[in-house]
Amino acid sequence: MAAVKAKRMAVTAAAGAVFAVSLVLSVRFFRKSPHTLVEIVQDGTVIRTVDLSAAPDETIRIERRDGQSYNLVRIENGEIFVQEAGCPDQTCVHMGKLHSDALPIICVPNRLIIRFAEEDGT
Ligand SMILES: [Zn+2]
Repeated sequence: MAAVKAKRMAVTAAAGAVFAVSLVLSVRFFRKSPHTLVEIVQDGTVIRTVDLSAAPDETIRIERRDGQSYNLVRIENGEIFVQEAGCPDQTCVHMGKLHSDALPIICVPNRLIIRFAEEDGT
């Protein structure tokens, strides 16, 4: 009987740990970033920095290095997202607006990343 009780306690502890971890992760992923400075990164190089708190509405066309594909990055009402892309998976378009530090907009085929800058003085 003692073994059964110990097992039950272990299960409870494991469930508690999973809950705690998922809570931390969800806060990290869904909390709106306090940052407004965004980096557009192509092939590992920052090609443009945008301050969303001050940026006017704009559409930025970014050609892939080989010219075979592109991303249309839209800045609108202080938010940034991929409006249109030439990539086959369209994941970057479906990711929607950039909100989280932990979850950048990534276009793998075009090697493009849109992310909040880690250091912006806030
Ligand atoms: Zn894409």
